[in-house]
Amino acid sequence: MMKMLETIKAWFSHKKNASLSIFMAFLVVVTLFATHLQWGNGQRMIEGEVPVYSSNRSDASPLIPIQKGEVYYPIHKEGDWEKILSPSRQIGFMPTTTLAEQTKASKRVAIVSSRTANLRRQPDAKSYLLATAKKGNQFVVLDENKEWIKVRHEKSIAYINAHSVNVRDGKIAKGANSSSIPMKDRKIKITANEAKLYAESHTNSTVIDHVKKGKTFQVVGVLEDFYEVAYNKDLFAFVKKSAAKANFTPIERVNIPKSIKDSTIVIDPGHGGEDPGASSDYTKKHEKDFTLKVSKALAKRLKGLGAHVILTREDDSNLSLRNRAKLANEETADVFISLHFDSSGENNENSGITSYYYNKHDLALSQVINHSLKKINIQNNGDQFGDFMVLRESDCPSVLLEMGYMNNKKDVKRIESKKYQQQLVYRISDGLENYFKNQGKIPQSKTK
Ligand SMILES: [Zn+2]
Repeated sequence: MMKMLETIKAWFSHKKNASLSIFMAFLVVVTLFATHLQWGNGQRMIEGEVPVYSSNRSDASPLIPIQKGEVYYPIHKEGDWEKILSPSRQIGFMPTTTLAEQTKASKRVAIVSSRTANLRRQPDAKSYLLATAKKGNQFVVLDENKEWIKVRHEKSIAYINAHSVNVRDGKIAKGANSSSIPMKDRKIKITANEAKLYAESHTNSTVIDHVKKGKTFQVVGVLEDFYEVAYNKDLFAFVKKSAAKANFTPIERVNIPKSIKDSTIVIDPGHGGEDPGASSDYTKKHEKDFTLKVSKALAKRLKGLGAHVILTREDDSNLSLRNRAKLANEETADVFISLHFDSSGENNENSGITSYYYNKHDLALSQVINHSLKKINIQNNGDQFGDFMVLRESDCPSVLLEMGYMNNKKDVKRIESKKYQQQLVYRISDGLENYFKNQGKIPQSKTK
């Protein structure tokens, strides 16, 4: 409502011709009223192609039109134009008259058929997890294909894997619970006198709006120096961390699920691609291959125990250390485990397993896992503080395991053996199970 008054006021103050101003203001009111009726349910499914222009004039140059099924993000209305952020996150303008004709309510409903279903920001299993829905939850379908169902989720949109839902004609049944479990009730309050809302997480990106001190937003993600917030119904925006105060502290968040079944675990196979990690003079083999092998086996076992598991890489590719931690943060992981094999200056100088922690909340995780790893008959160098970027940058409890020395003749022989790899998998997964069950406390050793 404020937006409408502001727009009208803007026309009065900026236009020289008073009669034109009144006419334009009248148009604004009529257009807003008309489109508001059309958009009563806030749905934005495009039924046909809608033209988009670079400015709010009919002689403006055309941009890529919005296609059927695509979602655009309304910013505000300017006369009989709507300023929008296009699906490709460009600022554009569309004539509201065309749009009103193209908007139609959905008549399909998705019912969650699996035990749980993840609601994601993008049609991609690795994209941000917005919430988890339970069996029987119902959602309005905005679009669908074989793999992903685009649904309305609260005041925004989300994607559900098509295998987790049944889609059928109809509306949400009366009394059917369409609510889901929100990941976090995280909010920020603007503390700067005026803060910019960006389209992307960098200050060179498009400024969507300026907001005043005291305004609050729901946080949907934290990306390096930015909070990602829900700006309006369909639009996410970025605010610089320095311009706002959050009601949560990611670094101190230690909310341990009671069971491994409710946990999200990110496993990070160290190195990859052009970065082989440590190599063995004896066998000419590389660390990156063993970290991937053990990680995949560990992921399989943890999935079998009911955990939601994500690997930072699933093949011989490399990604930056920052992006590995970022993935854990975006997935709001409960635990992040980076797997490595060690190396020392001289061959055969060192041997055994070392468990590294960085933050205070990492220590319990490191201790519980290492307690379990001590059951393997190899030297154990205990828990040590380690200033590793993946530990520094991840919000959740994180540990980096060095599981033997690539340049130790005896160690590398074990590292290459299936038996040792299996032992590692079982001991780490046991440690994790205990970590959740005992809420981070080290299990009492049976000494009686
Ligand atoms: Zn390494």
